[in-house]
Amino acid sequence: MLKAIRSFIKSHKFLHSLKIQLLTVLLVLGAAVLFVMRGLMMSNIYERNLEAKTNELLSKVQSVANHMEAYDFMGDQTSESIRSELSLLVVLAEGRVMVTDSQYRIIYDSYSKNVGGFIDSEQVLRAMGGNEAASVDETGGYINVSVPIYYRQVDTIHPKGTVYVQASLQNLNNEMKKMKSRSLLIVFVTWIIYGGLSYVVAVLFSMPLNHLSKAIESVASFEDSDILPEGYYETEGIAKSFNAQRSRLKSLDDSRQEFVSNVSHELKTPLAAMKVLADSLITQGDAPIEMYRDFMTDIADEIDRENKIITDLLTLVHMDQGKEGLNLERVEVNGMIELINKRLTPIANESDVEIVFETTAENIYADIDEVKMTLAITNLIENAIKYNHREGTVRVFTNVEHQFLVIEVSDNGIGIPKESLPHIYERFYRVDKSHSKEIGGTGLGLPITRKIILLHRGSIKCESEKNKGTVFTVRIPANRGNQA
Ligand code: ADP
Repeated sequence: MLKAIRSFIKSHKFLHSLKIQLLTVLLVLGAAVLFVMRGLMMSNIYERNLEAKTNELLSKVQSVANHMEAYDFMGDQTSESIRSELSLLVVLAEGRVMVTDSQYRIIYDSYSKNVGGFIDSEQVLRAMGGNEAASVDETGGYINVSVPIYYRQVDTIHPKGTVYVQASLQNLNNEMKKMKSRSLLIVFVTWIIYGGLSYVVAVLFSMPLNHLSKAIESVASFEDSDILPEGYYETEGIAKSFNAQRSRLKSLDDSRQEFVSNVSHELKTPLAAMKVLADSLITQGDAPIEMYRDFMTDIADEIDRENKIITDLLTLVHMDQGKEGLNLERVEVNGMIELINKRLTPIANESDVEIVFETTAENIYADIDEVKMTLAITNLIENAIKYNHREGTVRVFTNVEHQFLVIEVSDNGIGIPKESLPHIYERFYRVDKSHSKEIGGTGLGLPITRKIILLHRGSIKCESEKNKGTVFTVRIPANRGNQA
C-alpha cells in the first residue's frame, strides 16, 4: 500500500510539493473524520428516535389495554369508546392493530381481514406470558408492540388477551433520509471550509522552506552574505549547515586560487632566471666560452629546479585526487631507513653533517606503502641535513609504542622560529625564502610528507627552537591488516 502511494507520488510531479502533500493529507483526514462523525451521529439519532417512538407506542397501547379492562372489551366488543381509541391507535401507529383473546383468537383487526383467525407470533406469546414486548423489524420496517390485558376481578395473574400493534417505521425512515441528505450537505460545506483552513496551514508550514530555498538561490547566485537562520529548528539547521558549507567551499576556493597563483609564481621564477641568463649571453655576442659554460650550468640548474617543482606538484596533486591509494605491505622499517640514510650520506657529507641511526629493536615490521613512506622520511632527513650547520648531526630513531610505529628525525640545525611553525605544512611555505634557492627547497617537501603520513592514518608533530634544532615525530599504526 505504502509502496503504491510512493510510486503514485513519484509519477505525479505536482505531488512532489510539500504543500500539496500536506494539503492532501489534511483533506483526506478531514473528510474521513467528518464522515465517521456523521455516521455515528446519524445512527445515534436513529436509535434515539426509535426508542422514543417505541416508548410512546408502548404507553399508548398500555392505556388502551387498561381501558379495555375497565370496559370489559373481551366480553363485549361493541364499546364505541374503545373502538375509537383503537382507531386512534391505528392512526398513531400508521400500521395494524389487533386484539386477541386468551385462546389467541383475533377478536379485533384494524385490517378487518383476520377476525376469528388465530395468531401465535412471538410478541403475542410473550404478552400472554404476562410481559409487555417490543421489538424492531428493520427489514420489514416495523415496530412490533404487544401488551397483556388483565381482568382484575377474575384473575390478576393470567392475561385474558393482548393488544398487538405493528407500527410502520416509514415516516421515521423518511425523516432519517432527509436528515442524512441534509447532514451530507453540512459535511460537505464544513469540509470546504476546513479545506480552506488546511490550505492556509499548508502554506504557513511550507513557507519557511520556500524562504530557505529562495535565500539559498539568491545567496548562491549573487550575494556574499550568509542566510539568516529563521523558521523551524530544522530549517535553521539547514541554513546553518548551508552557511558552514558555503564558507568551507569559499575558503577551499580561496586556497585553490592562492595555490594556483603560488604555482604560477614558483614556476615562473626559474623561467625568469633562465631568460635573464640567456638574454645576457645573446646581448654579449663575443662572450668567452667560460661564461657560456657558467651560464649554461646555471640554466641547467634552473631546469632541474623547475623539474623538481613539477614532480613534487604532480605527486601532491595525485595524492589530493586520491588517485594514488596505498600499496600496503609488511615492511621491515629499520632496513628501509638504513637504505634512505645510505642514499643521503653523500649529501650529508657535502655539508659535513653526520647521520646517526638508533632503534629500540633489531627488526620493526609495519604495514606501510614502502615507496611513499621512503619519500616522506627522505624529505624529513633531507631537511634535517639541509637546514643544519656544518658538522651538525641528524639523528634518526625508530621505536614501537602501543602498536604504533614511531620514527623520530631530529637535528641540531638552524631550527624553525615559533611564528613559522604553524605554516610549515603549507604548500610553498619556506621560512627563509631568500636562501631557499641556494638550499634547493621548493616548499612542497613537508606538505607531501604530511599527506603521506595522513594517508597511513598517522600523525606528524614538529618541535623546534631557533638555532638549537628541530625534532619531527611521526606515528603510524603498525598493523593495518588488509584495510587500506
Ligand atoms: P623545502 O623544500 O623548502 O625544504 P619543506 O616543505 O620541506 O620545503 O619545508 C618547509 C620549510 O620548513 C623549509 O623551507 C624550512 O624553512 C623549514 N624546515 C623544514 N625542516 C626543517 C628543519 N629540519 N630545520 C629547520 N627548518 C626546517
